[in-house]
Amino acid sequence: MLMAAGSTTRPLDDGTVNHSMRVALIHVMQETDTFNPVLTTLDGFRNVALLEGHSVLDRVDPAGPIAGCIDAVGTSGKNVEIVPIIRADAQSGGRLSVDTLAMLSEMIVRGLRAAGKCDGVIMFLHGAASAVDVDDVEGALLAVVRRELGSEIPLALMLDHHANVTIEMMSHTNVLMAFRTQPHDPFETGRDLTKIALRTFSGEVQPTMAWRKLPMITHQEQFLTASGPMKEWFDHARRFESEGRALTVSLFPMQPWLDVEEAGWSIVVVTDGDAASAEQMADELADHAWSMRERFMKLDNLPVDRAIAFADDASRGAVLLSDTGDSVLGGSTGDSTVILRELLSTDLRHRALVPVTDPNVARHLSSADIGSTVTVELGGWANSFYKPVKVTAVLRAQRSGAVALDGLPQGSVDMGDAAILEAGNVTMLVTETSGVGGIHPGVYRHLGVEPADFKMIVMKTASNFQYMRGITTEFVRVATPGPTQSDVHSLPWTRIPRPMYPLDAMEDWRA
Ligand SMILES: [Zn+2]
Repeated sequence: MLMAAGSTTRPLDDGTVNHSMRVALIHVMQETDTFNPVLTTLDGFRNVALLEGHSVLDRVDPAGPIAGCIDAVGTSGKNVEIVPIIRADAQSGGRLSVDTLAMLSEMIVRGLRAAGKCDGVIMFLHGAASAVDVDDVEGALLAVVRRELGSEIPLALMLDHHANVTIEMMSHTNVLMAFRTQPHDPFETGRDLTKIALRTFSGEVQPTMAWRKLPMITHQEQFLTASGPMKEWFDHARRFESEGRALTVSLFPMQPWLDVEEAGWSIVVVTDGDAASAEQMADELADHAWSMRERFMKLDNLPVDRAIAFADDASRGAVLLSDTGDSVLGGSTGDSTVILRELLSTDLRHRALVPVTDPNVARHLSSADIGSTVTVELGGWANSFYKPVKVTAVLRAQRSGAVALDGLPQGSVDMGDAAILEAGNVTMLVTETSGVGGIHPGVYRHLGVEPADFKMIVMKTASNFQYMRGITTEFVRVATPGPTQSDVHSLPWTRIPRPMYPLDAMEDWRA
């Protein structure tokens, strides 16, 4: 049952009194792209979710891990009291500012002190968050929890499978589970980790973990778990679970824009007290991934000019042009002008739709007259990958504030000031914040633009095409530069350990 925080004993339905298990719940998730120079601040968390104490349970994302945790508690048959400490969610982006990490740590300390004695801790963290001068934010937050609660209390950790698992994280964790699919399954993972956590806290199982680190960084284009080598690798892990050999197996193809110490892929196998078997399965999974390393590096993108020509010539429907280098959901800045510049200089036969993040231009347009012609230097303000492009266009629409988006986990997105500019066959959505990078038709419809009327739609994502499925099923990955580019070779790495596949010649992952 799910009980409010407070007393530690409650009468059960049959009138008996049972000692309840108190479980502290901590949720902090942000995915950092260290090549995005725009820092993530506390406002970045407030824009999605920043909740403390009981308010965490007042606003539960039905698709999130907390909802999964509540579901598992409800069906556990155990008398469990969830003690919510914090839920902090921010969109992917640059490193956290120093103050932001300090404030999140402070909120956790405050919450744990107010919570009193707990029998276990469940933490939902991303695993690929970095802050200014702190590569491993999750390790730092886990250390904060350990300083408050000591080393004896069992701790269960959920991570995104694009995490970079570190020595610090593993040293504080008793049982670990990562997402099993991409696109992700946070509800199911929150639920299934909670089931194992409750059995761990009550002493029914004694989790033992084996961990392998692989010196690999591969691009995003083979990251979907429904096909290709990623499916084969993830299926292998699921086999160990369904055969009953492991409590849970987590695979971590680290997201490839994390220039940090200890970077690389990981495997974590958890068994019920059988260390030797866990070690053996971890080795087998490491060998399997390493044997497929060249397949993970297979690219299926097109250069910008060829992608546009393909879309303009397509016989029917809209073609999604995935701006792989400027994937907002992957943590990029959303201000790329690479595809836009090519569209503006191409004699297009059909209409194209492009989102661009530019706070200065968006604010400027908010006071211009609808129907007027404006000339602006657009985009290319945030990082060294892009330059602004001069655009003369007609202002067609403008609006401000949050818009509701069907099916989106957070339900709505605040793009700040937003405007529609039209220059010949090229229609631009200019927004103050990166929002969702134009991946949802709703962001256009709220401004009176129907994306289905366009032949090509630029989307700032490399994998989240699901919201546009009603409009088209055809998409092209465009080989664009940027903080989320698929070309891992030319990213300006300075901190990752070397040697690293595919940047260096390597024969064995154990090297
Ligand atoms: Zn992820």
